[in-house]
Amino acid sequence: MLKFTNVAPLPPAKRSARERVGDSAEIYAGLSQAQASSQAERCAQCGVPFCQNACPLQNNIPDWLKLTAEGRLREAYDISAATNPMPEVCGRICPQDRLCEQACVVEQSRHGAVTIGAIEKHITETAWLNGWVQPVRPGQARGQSVGIVGAGPAGLAAAERLRTLGYTVTVYDRHDRIGGLLTYGIPGFKLEKSVVERRARRLIEAGVDFTLNCAVGADLDFETLRGRHDALLIATGVYKARPLDVAHADRSVQALDYLTAASRADFGEHVEEFESGRLSAQGKNIVVIGGGDTAMDCVRTAIRRGAKSVTCLYRRDRSNMPGSIREVTCAEEEGVHFEWLAQPIEIGAHSVAATRMRLGVADADGRQAAHPVDGSAFAQAADLVIAALGFEPENIPALWKAPQLDVRASGALRVNPASFETSIPGVFAAGDIVRGASLVVWALRDGLDAAESMHVRLSRSRQSQLVAAE
Ligand SMILES: Cc1cc2nc3c(=O)[nH]c(=O)nc-3n(C[C@H](O)[C@H](O)[C@H](O)COP(=O)(O)OP(=O)(O)OC[C@H]3O[C@@H](n4cnc5c(N)ncnc54)[C@H](O)[C@@H]3O)c2cc1C
Ligand code: SF4
Repeated sequence: MLKFTNVAPLPPAKRSARERVGDSAEIYAGLSQAQASSQAERCAQCGVPFCQNACPLQNNIPDWLKLTAEGRLREAYDISAATNPMPEVCGRICPQDRLCEQACVVEQSRHGAVTIGAIEKHITETAWLNGWVQPVRPGQARGQSVGIVGAGPAGLAAAERLRTLGYTVTVYDRHDRIGGLLTYGIPGFKLEKSVVERRARRLIEAGVDFTLNCAVGADLDFETLRGRHDALLIATGVYKARPLDVAHADRSVQALDYLTAASRADFGEHVEEFESGRLSAQGKNIVVIGGGDTAMDCVRTAIRRGAKSVTCLYRRDRSNMPGSIREVTCAEEEGVHFEWLAQPIEIGAHSVAATRMRLGVADADGRQAAHPVDGSAFAQAADLVIAALGFEPENIPALWKAPQLDVRASGALRVNPASFETSIPGVFAAGDIVRGASLVVWALRDGLDAAESMHVRLSRSRQSQLVAAE
């Protein structure tokens, strides 16, 4: 260990931009065992591991790095899997540069972070390859049933934990596939669909029941659902797109509609919106409005789907982008053109009218306000405009006819922070629907914590039932 002074950091190899824009496969290669162990040896084995503190799952990173350095991959996997239900997913898509790797002491000493995410992926991919990933073993049946609404990372993490504890678990989702945004949101070039399908299969094999194509509030009444289960978890994510405030905004399409259609096409489905041209990028000038990670996923998807040109309009500059710089760099390499300091005003039939912006003084959060520059209007060619301004919670109390479900001003469900219980006893909530748009790793964390809390509550009510029956 402690080799950071003489071993340079080695990020995983990236396929060339020319090659990767020709398909939707992941762009990063895995590490070889030799690379993984020499990179793991760079770890300083800090007494107080800042990387672990910065990881929402509190992964025991120094221990699994040491075991990887020693070639003890199976033990490394056991430790990694003890805190993370999807380490190979997090290894791929966590923004490590804002989490564990940013906090790494080796990074802080300017030697370049230990490549924690890539090693985490390597450990778990090796485990899958060697059959070390054990089936989920359902605990002794407790005669209690739990319903989970939402098959995204929060719902899946809770489902696995609760099944292990012996509950009968049914997961409801309005989509036809399991995974939430892991399946219909995050593109395959960041996370291949087979990685998610493998996790979903493991839960099905453990007896978790999935009721798909079932939208709670529309196909299934919330009160009926409550009557079916001893406890409920709401893990429905956030799906209301932030509105685009420009003239003829109705001429734009929503980012998630676009990304979902592209995911369906990657699954080999016939996608009507691509055939009709409504969502097709083929041969078109594409403009994406927004500067976050969703916008980056849209521009990079459009490039892969044969666009003539792809331009991202963002009202601040590169250094003020909310999206990860790693993703912006990938987009630039792949041929995306960025119009920084540009604000759209009107969407025309074949162009977007925009104005130049300048940055003013920073506000209390340190963010510089953007102001229009007089007389700087310009037109950007656009046959398809994609709005990617982020997401807010849907109005669950109204949609589910459950006015007693308490929400915050943002529309996010209000829960007791210690128990994850909503204002309705026995109904819990976790993930983006509580936190607002966040990260996969936080959804996993919340799903696990909510499951523990549901277990405590259900154990108590089971105990009271047993006492009453005696
Ligand atoms: C385009 C995009 C890219 C992203 N990239 C990254 C990334 O690279 N790294 C990262 O860490 N995070 C990323 N995120 C954020 C991350 O995907 C989310 O934070 C995470 O998926 C939230 O998990 P969740 O389980 O709370 O909700 P979701 O993953 O949104 O899952 C919620 C599920 O609930 C279902 N549902 C909703 N309403 C109902 C209903 N009424 N009835 C039945 N089912 C319902 C939905 O169909 C969905 O399957 C990205 C988000 C987007 C939009
Ligand atoms: S889960 Fe994410 S933050 Fe935690 S160690 Fe893995 S990559 Fe880092």
